[in-house]
Amino acid sequence: MTSKSEKKYRQIKRTHIGVSIFEFILFSIVSSVMLVYACQQFTSYIIDTKLSSEYDSISYLAKLYEAASAANDENIYALLDGEAHDYIVVGADGKVIREKGVNSCSYEEGGRLFLTAQDKVVTAYRDTDRDYVYPGKNERIHLDFLHFREWMQSDRDEVEKSLELNGSVDRFINLPIWLSVDVNGGSEQFIGKAVFYANRRDVILITSSIAALIVLMAVILITMLVSAIKNVIRQRNMLDLFFNDLVTGGHNWTWFLVMGERALKKRRNAKFRFAVVSLILLNYRNYCVCHSLKAGEKLLCRIYTQINATLGKKEMCAHTNAANFALMLKYTDEEELRERLNELIKGLEVIDTEHKFSFQAGVSLLDRSAEHDKKTAGYKNVDLDTAYNNASAARMSLEDSGDSGVAFFDEKLREEQEWLDKVQERQQRALDNEEFMVYYQPKYDPKTEQIRGAEALIRWKSPEFGIVPPGRFIPIFEKNGFITTVDHYMIRHVAEDQKRWLDMGYHCVPVSVNVSRAHFVENDLADQIKEMVDKTGTPHELIEIELTESAFFDDKKAMINTISRLKDFGFAVSMDDFGSGYSSLNSLKDMPLDVLKLDAEFFRGDSEDGRGEIVVSEAIHLGKLLNMKIVAEGVEVKEQVDFLANEDCDMIQGYYYAKPMPAEEFEERIRQ
Ligand code: C2E
Ligand code: CA
Ligand code: CA
Repeated sequence: MTSKSEKKYRQIKRTHIGVSIFEFILFSIVSSVMLVYACQQFTSYIIDTKLSSEYDSISYLAKLYEAASAANDENIYALLDGEAHDYIVVGADGKVIREKGVNSCSYEEGGRLFLTAQDKVVTAYRDTDRDYVYPGKNERIHLDFLHFREWMQSDRDEVEKSLELNGSVDRFINLPIWLSVDVNGGSEQFIGKAVFYANRRDVILITSSIAALIVLMAVILITMLVSAIKNVIRQRNMLDLFFNDLVTGGHNWTWFLVMGERALKKRRNAKFRFAVVSLILLNYRNYCVCHSLKAGEKLLCRIYTQINATLGKKEMCAHTNAANFALMLKYTDEEELRERLNELIKGLEVIDTEHKFSFQAGVSLLDRSAEHDKKTAGYKNVDLDTAYNNASAARMSLEDSGDSGVAFFDEKLREEQEWLDKVQERQQRALDNEEFMVYYQPKYDPKTEQIRGAEALIRWKSPEFGIVPPGRFIPIFEKNGFITTVDHYMIRHVAEDQKRWLDMGYHCVPVSVNVSRAHFVENDLADQIKEMVDKTGTPHELIEIELTESAFFDDKKAMINTISRLKDFGFAVSMDDFGSGYSSLNSLKDMPLDVLKLDAEFFRGDSEDGRGEIVVSEAIHLGKLLNMKIVAEGVEVKEQVDFLANEDCDMIQGYYYAKPMPAEEFEERIRQ
């Protein structure tokens, strides 16, 4: 597949060179034709003018001959022969009737080249001595340069002779010319030898005019040539711009695409393969804010140069945008490539002695099209765009860590990406179709073994994928913001269920609903929840709001404000997953919470020397001191239940008592 950039690049290249060449050729042809035409017209004019007087002389001789032959007057013949011109007279049959001088005229070869003018047949003849074609009077003479040059180089002797004959010393060119005039009613032809002459001035005039024309044409052509060259240079510059990255001064993404795909298509060596890498400098924006954009760009420039210095033959690098770089590298072994990238990153991390930078790289290995045939295995159907996109996806899987790292795009990642796409595509439809179900996991009092509460947990009952656990879609919703809608949906459904059960006279217990931290940016969250619950008419004490610990990192003031308002409305608020992070204690200090939910991790694995028990015991103690109820999550075994009962833990939510269950099943439990 040829990329769009490749097409655009070719277009620019073609049009510009094409236009330049076309312009140049067109102007060359037009100016050559014009020059030739002008020269011809000019010389014809000169020759016509020159020949007219000669024709007059020959006409005069012809009249003399007519008079002589009419009267058969030897005196007039003598007069005719006394004239300087040689002549012959031919009859209708072509036989010579009379002649004087050297007969070098032939009209057999030259033939009659021209037709009548003013009722007289005027013909051009060929001088058999010299093989020149001579036209008659009043004819437009189509001389070509060859002839003209031959005329110029005419025999000096002939010229000298003509000079004597005509008594003129000024003549520079003298050429014998045979002109014919019909005599005796056209039954005979008088053909006289005239002289075409030109003096020095004529020659200078002609040559200088022609020279001026040639110079003019040369100037035009040179101008054209210069303009064509300029065009080519301009086009070069344009292509440079097309491929130039303004920040680093190096190559840009378009160049990478065009040149990369081109290089890959030519590639037929099976010794190594190619990989596309998406490399990013982390916290670039932050660096620019603190050190100016200019300093940031300078840094990118140095990074680009450093990367380039590590590249081998056929490898390439381009700055794509912001702090992103695209690389195409050769490799033989995946681990080796990973090692190489780690080394590259290590070098880049310390590019500035005063700063330590972090870089993340995603790698997409390119597939050859003809895998089985090692010798001709090439990259015919490569799509660098997609490969780079995959590499970027791999890189983005590292994003949360914030540290340097390298990740390869693989099947697992592809599946993840596909799943992400599927979820995003279907989320709204699933909500509209009520595919999201509320499951309830009861919380039991370990002493009385009575249900004291429950947690509402979402399940996606998809017609396509079956029952999907929240871990598969909640993190996606948290990223794309859909979680707010889903949490509202859950609160509404739980409130509706509670109201229904209440109306049926069941033993209703408080149900906690998870509210994602994404919500806490809305400062009217408490009012929104109240409004939703009030619509169903459920008493507020039957709804509890669970906040995960990570939510406590955000705006503390807003958080306290929302919690206080929720409490004012009569909703209990709990801290979920207590102990799974590191600022739990700090949050406890500031937040007026009602319930502490001990994270399930406390009850996983064996702790040595009863250390786990000590921590749990003290956590419960702490909660109690702060006037909170304690819920232990993820409790699966009897010993843990006994221990917690002994420690005065208020509730246990775990598989030991019950797994999360559909509403109908939970309904059964509270009906009893
Ligand atoms: P969570 O809020 O900590 O919910 C408790 C999770 O622990 C539930 O997983 C529950 O099934 C599981 N669990 C409870 N007891 C045991 C036990 O004894 N052993 C084991 N192995 N697991 C136990 P679940 O339902 O898969 O939910 C996972 C997470 O998804 C929840 O963790 C919560 O963070 C999130 N989530 C679930 N529903 C919602 C919701 O409606 N809104 C929001 N924002 N998040 C939700
Ligand atoms: Ca929870
Ligand atoms: Ca939890």
